[in-house]
Amino acid sequence: MSSRTSPAPRAALAACPPYVQGKSAIAGMEKPIKLSSNESPFGPSPAAKAAYLAAVDELHRYPDGSQRALREALAARFDVEADRLIAGNGSEELILLALRAFVDPGDQVVLSQNGFVMTRIHALAQGAEVIEVAEADWRVSVDNILAAVTERTKVVAIANPNNPTGTYISAAELRRLHAGLPADVLLMIDSAYGDYVVAPDYDSGIAIVRTASNAIMTRTFSKLYGLAGMRIGWAYGSPDVIAAIQRIRTPFNANAPALAAATAALGDRDYADRVRDHTIAWRGRMAAALADMGIPVVPSVTNFLLLTLPADSGLTSKGVAAHLLERGIIPRPLGVSGPGNSLRITIGTEEENLAFLAAMESCVRRVP
Ligand code: PMP
Repeated sequence: MSSRTSPAPRAALAACPPYVQGKSAIAGMEKPIKLSSNESPFGPSPAAKAAYLAAVDELHRYPDGSQRALREALAARFDVEADRLIAGNGSEELILLALRAFVDPGDQVVLSQNGFVMTRIHALAQGAEVIEVAEADWRVSVDNILAAVTERTKVVAIANPNNPTGTYISAAELRRLHAGLPADVLLMIDSAYGDYVVAPDYDSGIAIVRTASNAIMTRTFSKLYGLAGMRIGWAYGSPDVIAAIQRIRTPFNANAPALAAATAALGDRDYADRVRDHTIAWRGRMAAALADMGIPVVPSVTNFLLLTLPADSGLTSKGVAAHLLERGIIPRPLGVSGPGNSLRITIGTEEENLAFLAAMESCVRRVP
C-alpha cells in the first residue's frame, strides 16, 4: 500500500512551471494604465456589447454546441470552410486541445524560443519532451526548427506574429517550414496577433491550412476585438485535425454570450479597422520616440513593443518597471531568453501612450 495521504498527480505535472499572469493592479490606485497584457484599450465594439447583453435573456439555455453562427460568420469573413472551424474558450483552449489530441507522453514537441508560454506548459503536461529552438534577430528561425525535427517529433508550434518579440515570418518562410516537415507532424500556427498585421507578405496560416493535411491555425477575439474577458477564440484546421479536436472538446466549450459577442464583433468591421489604425499609428510613434531616447525597440507588427534595454545603458527591466509603476503604469518586464533585460509594452490609448512616453523620458534622464 502507498504511504501517500493524497492522490498523486500525473508525473508529467511535476515538470510544468506555473503560469505567471501579468500584473493587473497597483495597490491604492483605482485606474492604473495597464500596458502589460496586450489587451485592446478600447474594449469591444458597441455591437458586441449589445449582443452580449441580449444573450443574458437566454442564460438558462445551453449554448449552441455546434457554434454555427460564429463559424459561418468567420467562414464568410475569411473565405474558409465553416466545417473546418472550431471555437474555444480563448484560443488557448484550442491550443490545449490540439496538443491533447496529438501528443502522447515521450513525443517531441518543437517550439520556437519565444511564443505563447502556455503552449509549452500544455505540451509538458502531456508528458512531451519539449525542444526549444533558438531564434535569430528576434524572429522564428525556420532553419533552426527544421534542424531540430526528429522521428519522434509530433508537433511543431510557432506564434506568427511572435510574442513577446512582435515579429513575423513571411508567407514564403511559413511555406518553407511546412514543406520541410514530414506529413505526420502537426504544424500549429498561433496567430493571436494576426489581426494587426498589414504586411502584404504575411500569411496568418489560412493559406497553408487551406491545402495542408497536417496544420492548424489559432486566432483570438482577445486582442483587436477587445473581448479578452469573454474568453473566445477560434481555429481553422485540416479536416482530420479538426475532427480529432471535435472528439475531445466539451460540447459547450464556448459559452453563449461569448459566441454572440464574437459574432457581432466580427460584423462591426469599421470599429475593428479604427482600432487597428490607431494601434499601427501609435506603434510607429512610440517606437520612434523610444529610439530618440536611445532605447532600441524590436520592429513590431502587433499591438505591443519589445524594448530591449542595452546592457551599457544603466537601465534594467526591473528598474524601469518600478519607475513606471510609481507613475501608475503597468508594463511587462521580461527576461527574454537571449539578451534578456527587456520590457513589453502594449499600445494603449493616446493619453496612456503619452503618459508612458513621459515616464520613460524621466526614467532615462535619471540615469547618469
Ligand atoms: N497566443 C499568444 C501568442 C498570446 O499572446 C495569447 C494571449 N496573451 C494567446 C495565444 C491566448 O489568447 P486567448 O485569450 O485567445 O486565449
